[in-house]
Amino acid sequence: MTFSETYRDPTLVAQTIQKIHAATRQHWTIMEICGGQTHALMQHGFDDLLPEEIELVHGPGCPVCVTPLELIDKGIAIAQQRNVIFTSYGDMLRVPGSTLDLFSVRAAGGKVKIVTSPIEALQIARSNPDQQVVFFAIGFETTAPANALSVLKAKELNLKNYSMLVSQVRVPPAIRTILSDPQNRVQGFLAAGHVCSVMGYQEYLPLAEEFRLPIVVTGFEPLDLALGILETVKALENNRNEVINAYPRAVIKEGNQSAQEIIQRVYEPCDQKWRGIGTIPDSGWKLNATFSDFDAEKRFEVGDIQTKESEICISGLILQGRKKPFECPAFGTICTPQNPLGATMVSSEGTCAAYYRYQWK
Ligand code: SF4
Repeated sequence: MTFSETYRDPTLVAQTIQKIHAATRQHWTIMEICGGQTHALMQHGFDDLLPEEIELVHGPGCPVCVTPLELIDKGIAIAQQRNVIFTSYGDMLRVPGSTLDLFSVRAAGGKVKIVTSPIEALQIARSNPDQQVVFFAIGFETTAPANALSVLKAKELNLKNYSMLVSQVRVPPAIRTILSDPQNRVQGFLAAGHVCSVMGYQEYLPLAEEFRLPIVVTGFEPLDLALGILETVKALENNRNEVINAYPRAVIKEGNQSAQEIIQRVYEPCDQKWRGIGTIPDSGWKLNATFSDFDAEKRFEVGDIQTKESEICISGLILQGRKKPFECPAFGTICTPQNPLGATMVSSEGTCAAYYRYQWK
């Protein structure tokens, strides 16, 4: 058995699930923040394996889902310009803007390219000096270092034809917003292991103390998820309000300090709009004054675009763990992955898409 297969071993997972059953004495509501974890939990049937007292709710950790609609419309407006090559991760191309998506722009002749990293976008800029190349820089703390690095390199190379359309969000302020809501039901969090591998988990210590709940750094394999839930349940049952690292093979308390330095050189904190939730203070990063020339919103003057969300879609409540996809009247009827009304159905990490794929009968 390889090292990574150990974390998918059914026997070890079953033993850990048994320990969760043995540890659980009352009802607990636990939120996993990360959309990747939501999908893994659904895929491996955790809802059916866990004690019925454990309720999993799903947080706003899908980067595609929380990217504001107006930013998607701005991306579309930029991509429609004649001298632009618009680059993006594939997921973003299917997200509906107010009237179009990026795939439609490409079908109509726009130069929209799927890339797998901002460095690939940078290379496209170097190879096409007569074109403006824009990278759609969305995501959480996990994508921020590579995005920032591409801008650092562009400045070093004095590239005048590279810029980024930025929606860079941070997890801890979102946790604070969820916990501060008078209707909050979340009693414990699984913190996303990949985010913590970059940022460490020091930022979570004051949250656990202030809101008196456990936050458990958790990985993505079935055994990681079971161990994260077990640690959360044990902490809840024993009234321990602390941050626990259940993913020590990838995460240390301080995180990746080289990556953090790159982030600090290029970005500065800002208030950030989250789709479905609204503006969360200090929850984003924008390019700082040294790198603001690389801000596509400024370069292409698309600052004034206004948008209107679907009136049916309740993804904002789903992203805060207050509703589940089955409670949306459009779920599986007029909203499907083939015909999505909201971003949580579009993205491969979206909660509605996970429920549709793994639980829709
Ligand atoms: S099912 Fe569709 S309409 Fe309903 S909340 Fe999810 S994305 Fe929105």
